[in-house]
Amino acid sequence: MTHLPGSQGEYDPRTAVYPGSFDPLTNGHVDIVRRSARLFERTIVAILINEDKRPLFTVAQRVQMAREALRSEPRVQVDTFDGLLVEYVKRVGAGVVVRGLRAISDFEYEYQMALMNRRLSDRVETVFMMPAEQYVYISSRLVKEVCMLGGSVSGLVPAVVEERLKEKRAAVAAKPGE
Ligand code: ADP
Repeated sequence: MTHLPGSQGEYDPRTAVYPGSFDPLTNGHVDIVRRSARLFERTIVAILINEDKRPLFTVAQRVQMAREALRSEPRVQVDTFDGLLVEYVKRVGAGVVVRGLRAISDFEYEYQMALMNRRLSDRVETVFMMPAEQYVYISSRLVKEVCMLGGSVSGLVPAVVEERLKEKRAAVAAKPGE
């Protein structure tokens, strides 16, 4: 499911894909996007279509929040994908996959995935970036948990995400047990 024009099968090292669930986008993700936008001419934030994993936000909601939060970044686009990441990367004409590394705990999984993707296509290079220290402990999962339990997530997520999370919390409070 690609909406972006690509160079159909060409690998362009000036275009990077930053894939993930982004359920929802956090300030840690935004930090990585901005770093990527400094290095690459075009960064595509590619939101994985994974409705079977029971995400808190639909793909459409996640796209809308990411577009809003990143609208001041001219070199950044937001798209969705499903299926094999390397196929998507090829379709949009990118040459790089960007992933964020927070801690040692991210490393093993990210390393396995990078090597598997290289096996599937050795023309695609994975680049890891570290966020600024204040974002190292932020994860989408923790942000959702804290907000749903009534804690403040101010400063951890973009303003639009904070608003949507509060709406979710209010909706859940109005219909307990769902
Ligand atoms: P996935 O389900 O693919 O792990 P996520 O949305 O959780 O999707 O994360 C997407 C990418 O962003 C991953 O590479 C993850 O390690 C990275 N990431 C998540 N949170 C942060 C953060 N706070 N700082 C830097 N990178 C992060």
